[in-house]
Amino acid sequence: MDKVIHLGPWFINGHFLSISKWKSNFVARNEKLTTSAVWVRLPQLPTEFYDGKILAKIGNAIGRLLKIDTCTSTTLRGRYARICVEIPLEIPVQSFLFVGDLKQDILYEEEDFLCKNCGRFGHTLRQCTYIKMQSLDPHHAGQKHQQVATQDACDSE
Ligand SMILES: [Zn+2]
Repeated sequence: MDKVIHLGPWFINGHFLSISKWKSNFVARNEKLTTSAVWVRLPQLPTEFYDGKILAKIGNAIGRLLKIDTCTSTTLRGRYARICVEIPLEIPVQSFLFVGDLKQDILYEEEDFLCKNCGRFGHTLRQCTYIKMQSLDPHHAGQKHQQVATQDACDSE
């Protein structure tokens, strides 16, 4: 049975899904997916931080680091740091973090699945079942979700 765990995570419709470890006795049958893997970009990260250990720390601060984009690890072409992290779906995602004293915006590539109401990942605004965050002040509503270029020159190598 252990082997099943190692088959994941999977790509489904381009979305990187992972399944939380099955409870050995399958009590978890009705448990919904509680984490999702998502590509995250750190557009302001200085290149001197394009280092496996630092990126792992950042990834693990956001969620759980799964993968570092080769674009990032080969600094030649890396214009932004890109990492794949597993994030919990039941808590709102972070929109920034600090690396040392530097504030770094975190961009989530699958922003369609980032709820602009509650800030949680894995559902859209319309599917949101959470109570609205604060008052929807237009200056704070939905935090800042910058458009992320979808073309990806890094995939083909
Ligand atoms: Zn929501």
